[in-house]
Amino acid sequence: MLFGRNVEVWHHHSFRLPLSALGGVTGFEPRRADLVLWFLADAWAIDAKMLRKPRRVRYRDLARVHTAEYLESLSHARTLARIFAVDESDVQVDEALNTIRLACGATVQAARSRMISGGAALNLFGGFHHAGPDSGGGFCAVNDIAVAVADLRHEGFKGQVVVLDLDAHPPDGLAACFRGDSSVWVGSLSGESWGPLEDVDDTVLERGADDRTYLRALDGLLGRMPRSEFAFVIAGGDVIAGDRLGKLALSLDGIRRRDLRVYKALGGVPSVWMPGGGYGEESWKVLGGTGVVITCRSLDPIPPTYDPMRARFGWVSTKLSRERLEGGDELSGKDLEEALGIRPPEAQRLLDFYTADGIEYALSHYRLMPHLRRLGFEQLKVSIEVMALGEAVRVHGTFDGERHLLIECVLERKRVANHDVLYVHWLTLRNPRAKFNQRRPQLPGQDAPGLGLAREIGWAFARIARRLGLAGVAYRPAWYHTAYSGRYHFVFADPVRQGRFEAMQRDLRNVALLEITRAAADGRLRMNGEPHTWEAEEMVFWLGRSPLDEAAVAEERERVRFTIVDPECDKDGP
Ligand SMILES: [Zn+2]
Repeated sequence: MLFGRNVEVWHHHSFRLPLSALGGVTGFEPRRADLVLWFLADAWAIDAKMLRKPRRVRYRDLARVHTAEYLESLSHARTLARIFAVDESDVQVDEALNTIRLACGATVQAARSRMISGGAALNLFGGFHHAGPDSGGGFCAVNDIAVAVADLRHEGFKGQVVVLDLDAHPPDGLAACFRGDSSVWVGSLSGESWGPLEDVDDTVLERGADDRTYLRALDGLLGRMPRSEFAFVIAGGDVIAGDRLGKLALSLDGIRRRDLRVYKALGGVPSVWMPGGGYGEESWKVLGGTGVVITCRSLDPIPPTYDPMRARFGWVSTKLSRERLEGGDELSGKDLEEALGIRPPEAQRLLDFYTADGIEYALSHYRLMPHLRRLGFEQLKVSIEVMALGEAVRVHGTFDGERHLLIECVLERKRVANHDVLYVHWLTLRNPRAKFNQRRPQLPGQDAPGLGLAREIGWAFARIARRLGLAGVAYRPAWYHTAYSGRYHFVFADPVRQGRFEAMQRDLRNVALLEITRAAADGRLRMNGEPHTWEAEEMVFWLGRSPLDEAAVAEERERVRFTIVDPECDKDGP
């Protein structure tokens, strides 16, 4: 059997919602579609021929399902802010609607294409099952599945449709869209009930249900599923144990088995698969697993430390022209004018290598510049300045006619733990359009909310270090939360310090990040019962093998226990 011959994967780089607060506030990974695409390409599960780029769904297609009044309300930042659980100040309406229409367009176009050619399609952003004809909520603005079914009907398709909703939440929007329509069967397996759902085969599992319980219930649901001529599957990412919003407790392996059972149960029925929800660090692995099942039926796990962004940045880096990064080697007319003193000397090069234009060129290819534009900033400009501490790189942008600092970092080559590294003295990522609020509180060291781009910047630094032949990237986290945000790649240069840091993560995993930072600053943090203060020390992202003494790390990690005391208990005496 030839795998992957009749499979499509739908993706658009604008699937990433342009909401800078999304990741931090809800646990939703706005890069999920990108991460999965990079993973599937890196794992050779897909090739360019299988990739499809959607067009935006048309309003007249949306209007087959949604009321005109509701669609009109989507052009207000207030409505979108409520649906995506972010502050109104964080919503760029046109860009957000662009993402929503592209995602819905992908489900619609994937359904049409599968109707003609058969086989399976995976839309990397879709399954918005909470949107009803005149309402949205829970990250769902429009009901892509209902719009796709309406489109198939409009094209003359009269056959039975099944919708398997395997998201951890109930399909209230789907139920509202398909109420009374016997030609569409909706089967749901979820972890909570929001009340009775009309015309839905609804199974609600106990909180914390594991692989065994879930797969048994799934077999029951698949046994009741009617024969159909077309299928939609929401392969929900929020069924995994530890998801912030889902109450089930499946393992990645259990979820892969779920997808394989569904795939087999559908037989040759043409199908469109979508991810639905997923609010945790591993949600991209769930969707990556769905992609692997559809393309090659594999149950092989994704290695625990694999990061698709590494593959992506490495790949882009090989495509960048050295000449453009350095600004070219050949003597030009410009250089001659400079030499003759009739032209001011060129601006400094960062670390004797990158010109400001070169950095702008690289940031564009890593898609950071386009993302800043989607967040609502124009006239983006990169500048370099040599300072006493190191070399500063700044990215400015304008909105409402004013110029704002968006990114600033101060870099230097420095020796840490006997290795030459790229030393980041200072990094700030600012979104001056967004506002702090209760869900997005101001963290120490912040004068504006972040851009949601820390991970990309981290990889960009890693690529710079590699290009300059350095051993890694280093910085000194002044607060617990800044160390925490780098925890996947950075380790303390000192093994004792790393052991304590790992013990803090273990012991304080149920405490909010901001509370830990505050407790450490207020003297309420205890190590083995004694007051403990957070000191800034070097952390390094080693590009090659880490020279860290792992045994010493483990020894300290096991030796110490961290606790936080309440502000009241901290006061001595009466
Ligand atoms: Zn959900």
